[in-house]
Amino acid sequence: MSTPIPFIDIKAQQARIQTSIDRRLNDVFTHGKYIMGPEVAELEKELSAFCGAAHTISCSSGTDALLLALKALDVGAGDAVLVPTFTFAATAEVLPWVNAVPVFIDIAAGSFNIDPTSVEAGIETAKKAGLRPAGIIAVDLFGQPADYPALNALAEAHGMWVIADAAQSFGAQQGETMVGKLAPITTTSFFPAKPLGCFGDGGAVFTDDEALAAKMRSLRVHGKGQDKYDNVIIGMNARLDTIQAAILLSKLEIFQSEIEARARIAETYDELLGDLVTVPRLKDGNTSAWAQYTVWSEHRDAIREHFAEAGIPSVIYYVKPLHQQTAYRDYPFAGNGCPVAEAASESVLSLPMHPYLDPQTQERIAAVLAEVISSQREPRRAVS
Ligand SMILES: *Cc1c(COP(=O)(O)O)cnc(C)c1O
Repeated sequence: MSTPIPFIDIKAQQARIQTSIDRRLNDVFTHGKYIMGPEVAELEKELSAFCGAAHTISCSSGTDALLLALKALDVGAGDAVLVPTFTFAATAEVLPWVNAVPVFIDIAAGSFNIDPTSVEAGIETAKKAGLRPAGIIAVDLFGQPADYPALNALAEAHGMWVIADAAQSFGAQQGETMVGKLAPITTTSFFPAKPLGCFGDGGAVFTDDEALAAKMRSLRVHGKGQDKYDNVIIGMNARLDTIQAAILLSKLEIFQSEIEARARIAETYDELLGDLVTVPRLKDGNTSAWAQYTVWSEHRDAIREHFAEAGIPSVIYYVKPLHQQTAYRDYPFAGNGCPVAEAASESVLSLPMHPYLDPQTQERIAAVLAEVISSQREPRRAVS
C-alpha cells in the first residue's frame, strides 16, 4: 500500500513551528487576555507591514470581514453588487444580510476570475431590475489576483466601490503591489485550509482609508464608541480570538517561505501536467498564493475516479456556480448568462497543494493522470 496523500498537509507545517506556537500560547495562557489581547494588535501591525496596507482590522472570519466592509460602506436596500458566480457562497451570502442584491457575472476562462468585460452587462442588469449598481466584489480565485487595474477603473467610471475578496490570495502580488493594497478594501480569511490559516476561524480587512478602518474597528465590537458599553452604531461581534492571533503570529514567521514553496510546487505541476490537461495560467505580473492548483480537462470525471482509486485526493471547486444554487437562483445574472463558469464547473479539478508536497508525490500524481489521459485517447482501452 502506498502512503495516503494529504490534500493539504497542516501537520508538516505544525511540526515546523511547534516551538514558536508553544511559546506564544503559553504567553496567552499566562496573561489571560483571551479577547482583544496584545497578540491581536501585534498581529495587525505585522500584517500591515507584510502587505503594505495602512490599516488591518482582524476579525472572526473571512465572511465577517466581507460583512464588516459592506456595513462600513453603508451598503443597503436598493443596492446591487456585482459578484462572480464562480466562487464560494460567502462572497454573495453577505449581500442579502445587508438587504443588497447580488448580480452574478461571468468569469474569464484563463484566470477563473471575474471578467471585466462582463461588468457593463452586470450594471445594465442591475439598472433593469430597478437597482443602483453600488459596487463590485472581486474574488482572487485559487490565489491569483483579479484584474484590479481594469476593475478599479470601471468602478470609478460608474461611481462604484470595489472590495477584493482575497480569502484565497493573501500573500500574492500584482506587479510590485501586494494583495491587501490592490483595491480600496480587501478582505481575507484565516480558515485553516487557506494559504495563511489559523487553528479555527479568523479573518481580516485591509484598507488605507482611516475613516473606514475606524468604523470597522467599532463595528466588530458592537458598534462601540469609548468602549463596548458605549454603542454609537449598530454593530456585531466579529473579533479575532487572542489565541488565533498568537497562532497566526507564529505562522506569519514562515509564511513568505511557504508562498515561495507553493510557487515552486506549482511550477513542477506545470512541467509534469502541461501536455495532459490545461494547467492554470498567471497573467503577466501576477503571482499566486496557490490556495488551489486547479486544472481543466474534458476528462475531469475519469481523472477524479482514478485518483480516488489510487488514493490521491482531489476536490471540485466549484461543482455549481452560485447562480445555479438553490439559494441564489432567483437573483439576477448578467447578460446572456455565465457560460464560462458553467463550463468550468464541469471541467475543473483541484489537486493536492500545500508547501510540503514533495516532487516524488507530484510525480506519482502525474503518472496516474497520464494513464487516465492515454486510456481516454484510445477508445478501445477506454476506462468505463
Ligand atoms: C473561504 C472563503 C471565504 C470565507 O471565509 P471564512 O473564513 O470561511 O468565512 C470567502 N470568500 C472566499 C472566496 C473563500 O474562499
